[in-house]
Amino acid sequence: MDRYRIEPGKKFKLEDYSPNDTGDFEGKKQKGIELLAERRAEIDSLQELLYAEHKHRLLVVFQAMDGGGKDGTIRAVFDGVNPQGVKVASFKAPSQTELDHDYLWRIHAQTPGKGEIVVFNRSHYEDVLVVRVHNLVPKDVWKKRYDHINAFEHELYDEGTTILKFFLNISKDEQKERFMERLDMPEKRWKFNEGDLEERKLWPLYMEAFEEAISKTSTKWAPWYVVPANRNWYRNLVVSTVIADTLKSLNMKYPNPEIDVTGLKKRLTNE
Ligand code: ATP
Ligand code: MG
Repeated sequence: MDRYRIEPGKKFKLEDYSPNDTGDFEGKKQKGIELLAERRAEIDSLQELLYAEHKHRLLVVFQAMDGGGKDGTIRAVFDGVNPQGVKVASFKAPSQTELDHDYLWRIHAQTPGKGEIVVFNRSHYEDVLVVRVHNLVPKDVWKKRYDHINAFEHELYDEGTTILKFFLNISKDEQKERFMERLDMPEKRWKFNEGDLEERKLWPLYMEAFEEAISKTSTKWAPWYVVPANRNWYRNLVVSTVIADTLKSLNMKYPNPEIDVTGLKKRLTNE
């Protein structure tokens, strides 16, 4: 899945990444779905280990256009994981109190503690995406934020947080289909938001904003993955594989407390 990781310092062009790509799984949807089940099971046991070891922290960031599948991915990838060890933080338009602080204030407060996985459904990247596209702050303010974000994420990393960032890359046509589906299906209609049609008109500006954000903030310590997301099953497979592989690479171990197992068992037997 390395092919979807954006190498730091290299010029990144969104047009080089097809939302329809299914990599080595072209025509192998069934196999992809089976593998997803395996990945999920791996994530489940690795999360237990992360919790038990109480050493590492994992932060997973999701960004996408509306209808990009953030909710669906989170559900699919973390299905079955012990809810005590995983927290989802969703970032909506900031409240007055949040606006009264710097933009990273509300973000830092939600970062994972030791042994925890925190999933960001939207994130501090909104502050260089929607904020840029809608001129919510002047350009000379948001321009500086790429550096802040890199420094902030570096600090988290130095202190023991592993960071993964996923851009779920759907095409504009796919978004239209998903909006149509939301309108057609009563159980999905609640998700439809009239404002989403206004945002859709700004698609090219959003793509520019994503391209710059990803180019400038894909770092060794907090890489971006541009995930082909027109096919839900492949998107889920890519994300779950990256998360499982990353957790494996932490070489975690169950703590082995120095206790007198035989003595304790004897006490339990004789109670
Ligand atoms: P759904 O997929 O269910 O629609 P959502 O994540 O789009 O979920 P909404 O409540 O529809 O949730 O949208 C949240 C809105 O908050 C988005 O339009 C997003 O751009 C906006 N938002 C998030 N962070 C900021 C920010 N820092 N400044 C301004 N707007 C923000
Ligand atoms: Mg929305």
